[in-house]
Amino acid sequence: MKTIRLRPGKERSLLKRHPWVFEGSVARGGADAGETVRVESAEGEFLCWAAFSPKSQIRLRAWSFDEAERIDAAFFRRRIDQAIAMRARLAIASDGWRLVHGEADGLPGLVVDRYGDTLVAQFASAGAERWKAVIADALLAATGLARLYERSDAQAREWEGLTPQTGWLRGDGETALTLREHDWRLTLDVAEGHKTGYYLDQRDSRRRFADAVRQYGCQTVLNCFSYTGGFSVAALAGGASHVVSVDSSGPALARANAHVALNDFDASRHEAWDADVNATLRRCLKEGRRFDAIVLDPPKFAPTAAHAERAARAYKDINRLAFQLLEAGGLLYTFSCSGGISPDLFHKIVAGAGLDAGVDGYIVDRLSAAADHPQTVRFPEGDYLKGLALLKR
Ligand code: SAH
Repeated sequence: MKTIRLRPGKERSLLKRHPWVFEGSVARGGADAGETVRVESAEGEFLCWAAFSPKSQIRLRAWSFDEAERIDAAFFRRRIDQAIAMRARLAIASDGWRLVHGEADGLPGLVVDRYGDTLVAQFASAGAERWKAVIADALLAATGLARLYERSDAQAREWEGLTPQTGWLRGDGETALTLREHDWRLTLDVAEGHKTGYYLDQRDSRRRFADAVRQYGCQTVLNCFSYTGGFSVAALAGGASHVVSVDSSGPALARANAHVALNDFDASRHEAWDADVNATLRRCLKEGRRFDAIVLDPPKFAPTAAHAERAARAYKDINRLAFQLLEAGGLLYTFSCSGGISPDLFHKIVAGAGLDAGVDGYIVDRLSAAADHPQTVRFPEGDYLKGLALLKR
């Protein structure tokens, strides 16, 4: 077993059980990509067992802080069992849920979603990559399922020096699936969709949005960055008379249209606009259009804190336009899924947008990822998805 020695004082975050060690904290030692190493303080004390990432700024990711624990097949099975047991305690109103959520489940670099009888995994770190076959077997054994599709095509792999890999890891068959979420039916293709095919993290917020549309009597809804129309189906279920989905992905919009039909809503109640959201908001403003409710669920404008400033301007822009496009008393569901934008900063950005638009908003709900995408108190980076539900004042 190779040993990595840290620089003096650089053990602090590991002592708080935060699982990352950055490149600059390593004094000496090296290993192959994904190899398990023993990490020690400058004084030679044991800190953790970790996976070594020779190419990444995050040089080490802790697997275990217990010196007696061995990192082997049984270790991965224990962690996966624990992740599954946590989900079993949640009331998840869907047959799709996140089974393993990386660091929060003690498995850095590993994301696993379950859609019915199909598992979809993303191996995004050198350590997860190295243990792929062991993890795949443990996932099937722990769930009793037979199909596991790999979607290791996230950008994070590049930072680890890993090439994209997709395809069936275990089992095979159709990649097109149907999902039940709340009372709705939604479809996805695990081979083609964004991430693992669908945004499971917005499940609870879609339910709340449906309820809010009903409660506040919203008739016209603009769903920006709609992807396959999850919030649009929610709006229709909440009684909206007319919903517009806006996205720059044609295939996603085709699926949004299909979802309207699949859930037995009249096609005349829905429009899909293949367009840029910012340009669309400006055009609507020029045309004097107004909406009773607007959803803003943009992609990650700030992948890291370093991009926060530019991202902040982009968030502020669309939020200001949305405030202007809302009817008096209208409902805004606004999100950021950028790890680099804290909930506090997001609040400030939305406040600034309101100020520029000359309106205030009542905060009627605070939103975050569904609990099967857990955050733990030790890992603040896990708080990536935050949202505010506002009523235009
Ligand atoms: N709200 C969705 C998830 C949104 S993900 C859901 O509930 O499933 C972000 C979406 O924004 C993606 O579908 C992507 O295609 C779209 N997108 C990214 N940039 C865009 C832009 N400038 N204009 C319109 N859509 C954009």
